[in-house]
Order: sequence, then structure tokens, then C-alpha cells
Amino acid sequence: MLGVVSGTPIDFHVHPSTSEYLEGSLGPYLEDLRRHFRLEVPVRTLEQMAKEFEGMRAVLLAWDARTGTGRPPVTNDWVAEACRRYPETFIPFASVDPWRGDEAIAEARRAVRELGMRGFKFQQAAMAFNPADERFFPLWEEIQSLDVPCLFHVGTTGLGAGTPGGSGIRLEYVRPIHLDAVAAAFPRLTIVCAHPAYPWQEEMLAIALHKANVYVDLSGWAPRYFPAELVREIRGRLQDKALFGTDYPFILPERWLREFEALEMPDPVREKILWGNAERLLGL
Ligand SMILES: [Zn+2]
Repeated sequence: MLGVVSGTPIDFHVHPSTSEYLEGSLGPYLEDLRRHFRLEVPVRTLEQMAKEFEGMRAVLLAWDARTGTGRPPVTNDWVAEACRRYPETFIPFASVDPWRGDEAIAEARRAVRELGMRGFKFQQAAMAFNPADERFFPLWEEIQSLDVPCLFHVGTTGLGAGTPGGSGIRLEYVRPIHLDAVAAAFPRLTIVCAHPAYPWQEEMLAIALHKANVYVDLSGWAPRYFPAELVREIRGRLQDKALFGTDYPFILPERWLREFEALEMPDPVREKILWGNAERLLGL
């Protein structure tokens, strides 16, 4: 059971800043991200992380991009155990490598039914797949039947950024329009588009406005750089569909929250974005 308290911010997008993710799953890609975000990213212990999120709740993300990157995963078992140690702080999201076919489907089912995980995260650039490709539809079918939300990366990525050939990473996979096809085919699957989707922000906003089952998380960008149209939509038509998220450890919650407050959202909108919408999606 989650011991979470209502009415505290829920960061919907948190990567473990531990060696499992930074040195294991990212390895050589970590340097690209440090350059991209212009931030030192120290390896922390889980204890240190839990301390940084005191007074908040955080969706903690597993990571399995074995086929795409050749790097080891942050396993669902590791994330589930981390959340058991800090049940008031962390909410577990699973990851499966879509290229692993039936094995991925079985692991998705195990993650929710046996480990109690509350959703999934996919990073299509790192995982090197197009979610609209019908070969992956059985996986979306399974997750839809498990009745938990799915977080998908959209827009450019720091992985491979500034390296020759982007280290082989292709940006076509992270276009929001592919998720429109998934949302259309799986109307009971809740899809959260992570990040403001640069340079396809309007494409993402149009999909979130058109498909009732598509949401947006506001992670990966410091709020002071949010484009005017994004700010207008999240305080208006998308106020029930926008979620606080940082992309920790690349953006820290203290900075995100400080800059978000400077946008001076009306109180009811602010509360929906900081925790209300997330509580509804997560069934808290
Ligand atoms: Zn992320």
C-alpha cells in the first residue's frame, strides 16, 4: 500500500540518480546529458534521493533499453524495492524493452500484478522503436488491460546530443504523432507525453486536446523557458491534463517548483498541475 498523503506535489518524472541508472543504464550517454542540461549529475544513494524529495511524492522510473543501447536495465524489481523502502515518497513505474516480445508482455503483467507497480515508462529514442508500429500493439493491449498509465518520452533527447550521428539515436521515434495512433487504437490506455516535445510542441498539444486519454507532463524543461503557448494551454484548456514533472536528476525539483510559482497560475490550476491530476491518474 502507498502511504502517500494527499495535497503534496507529485513529481511525475524521476529517474534514479543512483549508480544503477547513471553508471549502469546510461554509462557513456551520461556525458551527453551533462552537456545538454549543463549540470553536474552526481551519483547519489537512494537515501540521499529520498531526502531530496521529502515533503513531496515522486514517480520513480525503471529503465530497460537493452536492445537499443546495449546497456543494463534499472530493473522493475530494483524500483519496486526502492519504493517499498520509502512508501511515503516513491511511486513505482515499470519499464520493459518492447523488442523482447512475449517476454516483455509477461514482465509488464508481473510488474503490475506481483510487484504492485503503478504505470510504465518508455523512451522510444533509447529503445529504438516506433510505438505506432503494430508489432508493439500486443504490449499496449496488455498495458491497457492492466489499467495503468503509460509515460512516453516526446521531443528531442539529451541522449547522444552533440555527438557524431547522435550516437545512432534517431529522433523520428520521439515524434508525438506516433502516440496519436496508439491513443486512437487504445482509447482506454492512458498516455502521458513527457516533456514539452520540442520541436513538435504544437503537435503534442493538438493530440492532448483531441484525445481524452492523452496527458502531458511538464518535465525536462525549466518552467522559465516554457513557450507562451504551452503556458496558455496548461492554464486553460489543458489544466486537467498537465502534470508536474522534473526529469530529475537533470532538473531538480526545487528549481522547477520555484520557476513554476513565478508563472502565477490561479490556485485551482496550480493544485491540479502539482498533484490533483496525478492523483486522479494514479488512483490515489
Ligand atoms: Zn526522463
